[in-house]
Amino acid sequence: MTSPQRHRIRCPLIAGNWKMNKTVVQATELVAELLAGVGQPQDREVLVCPPFTALHAVGQLVQGSPIMLGAQNLYPKDSGAYTGEVSAAMLLEAHCSYVIIGHSERRGYFAESDEFVNQKIKAALGAALKAILCVGESRQQREAGQAEGVVTDQVRKCLAGLSDRDMAEVALAYEPIWAIGTGLTATPEDAQKMHVCIRSLLGDVFGEEVARATRILYGGSVKPGNVDYLMAQPDIDGALVGGASLEAESFLRIIHFE
Ligand code: PEP
Repeated sequence: MTSPQRHRIRCPLIAGNWKMNKTVVQATELVAELLAGVGQPQDREVLVCPPFTALHAVGQLVQGSPIMLGAQNLYPKDSGAYTGEVSAAMLLEAHCSYVIIGHSERRGYFAESDEFVNQKIKAALGAALKAILCVGESRQQREAGQAEGVVTDQVRKCLAGLSDRDMAEVALAYEPIWAIGTGLTATPEDAQKMHVCIRSLLGDVFGEEVARATRILYGGSVKPGNVDYLMAQPDIDGALVGGASLEAESFLRIIHFE
């Protein structure tokens, strides 16, 4: 059982991004193991984001449990001739409450711009889905001393036109690209520094109340061995976990961070 995190103002969110992994059979096996080990956490939220094909089956299993369901992407139109795409309403019907938007793999492999990401966030919120907006710099940008500028620019553009009320349904995930799937993690101190920078920008754009209430997750090779250190930072409000969310044992350890 997890210990109460009473010092926190924001409820931590631990989210698993399964990416293009797990058939329906594998997904239901994994989620059954997670359900067996998750307990009834009162002081943290848990989310899994399977591929589209497994959403319905996983959604049936997690209903009424402490595990929430999210998707990894959506297309920002209600319906129509967009072959291969999936709308926000379709995700909602599959029992999703969250959707990940602007992951660096989508930005990199599918050339998604900040403006397109902004449209997707608006489509998600318009359909009563919560959004996890991913931002993060490349290794070259970090080495050139541009990390904070790049990330704040992404945040500004991706959240353009959103109201304070909209922001209650948005979490951010700071995911340095060089740390995703590489085994390299930002040090807890470096991650904290970027989270403070993002929070300060949220204060400038939306005001102090939104800045204080918005969850900023860290993502990038979060593992059982580093999660406690990352989560000990005051501005790290959760984790977006790729590789280590694909095995029940490692994801459960991350969920039960100290
Ligand atoms: C991710 O996919 O968002 C991610 C952070 O992956 P990993 O944990 O494998 O680095």
